[in-house]
Amino acid sequence: MKNNVIKNITNKTLGILGGGQLGKMIAVEASRLGIKTCIFDPNENAPAFQNANIIINSDYNNKKALKKFLKHSDKVTYEFENIPLESLNFLEKNSQIFPGSKALKYSQDRLFEKEFISNLGITVAPFYQIKKYIDVKDALEKLKGNAILKTRKFGYDGKGQHIIKKYRIPNIKDNIEKNKYIIEGIIKFKKEISVIVIIKKDGFAVCYEPSENKHVNGILRESVFPAKISKKTKNRAKAIAVKLARSLNIIGIIAIEMFVNKNDEIIVNEVAPRPHNSGHWTMDACNISQFEALVRVIFDIPIPHIEYYHNCKMINILGENYNVIEKSLNKKYHKLYIYGKDEIKEGRKLGHINILS
Ligand code: AMP
Repeated sequence: MKNNVIKNITNKTLGILGGGQLGKMIAVEASRLGIKTCIFDPNENAPAFQNANIIINSDYNNKKALKKFLKHSDKVTYEFENIPLESLNFLEKNSQIFPGSKALKYSQDRLFEKEFISNLGITVAPFYQIKKYIDVKDALEKLKGNAILKTRKFGYDGKGQHIIKKYRIPNIKDNIEKNKYIIEGIIKFKKEISVIVIIKKDGFAVCYEPSENKHVNGILRESVFPAKISKKTKNRAKAIAVKLARSLNIIGIIAIEMFVNKNDEIIVNEVAPRPHNSGHWTMDACNISQFEALVRVIFDIPIPHIEYYHNCKMINILGENYNVIEKSLNKKYHKLYIYGKDEIKEGRKLGHINILS
């Protein structure tokens, strides 16, 4: 057994599509296990390039670059969802993609994602497809005037979202007719939580305990572990997360974001088949982080029982609160991560702090 594991990781390279902070943190964990990385990103200043053994700096639809990426990579994973479908299909013909392309395809489009989840009998916010401007008005009637309009694709960190209150539709008629949107009812939640599921190749599934998340304007600001919800709600959240992960054929990890309402009902918001910002607390609070878990599954390295050493509050460092770094430097229970991005911009995730207790 041991020899097999050593064989699986000796002189092996993990190909990572995307060189942002998540790619960087996957690369660090891979390196700690003796695995090299080949990182593909169109941005020449991608933060993960600082930790890569091989760099491929190209557009995601450049076939020649994708071939080179495959040549160098023993296994392939990705750190973000918006890889063009054609490139994904090309890669998939030549290599297994972890944690899986089915989940990636659903998570790329909010409409397909919501349909898929609700077809499993899992509750999601009420939603309607928007094709024409008039559809917004019709949906608002059903949603009693309050809703969130979201682009179906390429929306993250609250981008492409418009909150509608009292039937007041934003002045984006052209946009609505040019882009694909969905509209969702606003969930009155008491908590937002997320669950990260690990599924191994033999189908064994295990979850991290839920964390509690605070978003401001659609951007995650804080994740707190453990979530302050009842044991019963935690178990239900984990059962839903595993059901979803299995249905999406995950091998690796997936994060499921959920709302908990005042009746302790769980409403799934979205899935992210990759390491997730709301799981960064696992880097310091546990014996195994979400990044290491992904690398271990991909290279058939056993996963130990998850142990929790600390409670943890993870705070995101954004452009507008970059100064918190200074305050954190000499605090003994603060673990600081700075991603090394090229520019400090409002709303941009530049690092995080894990505050342990
Ligand atoms: P999303 O990009 O869908 O993850 O949305 C970002 C954040 O906006 C969520 O984490 C929530 O805080 C809020 N949000 C999104 N959709 C809804 C909804 N249907 N009801 C209430 N809040 C929402």
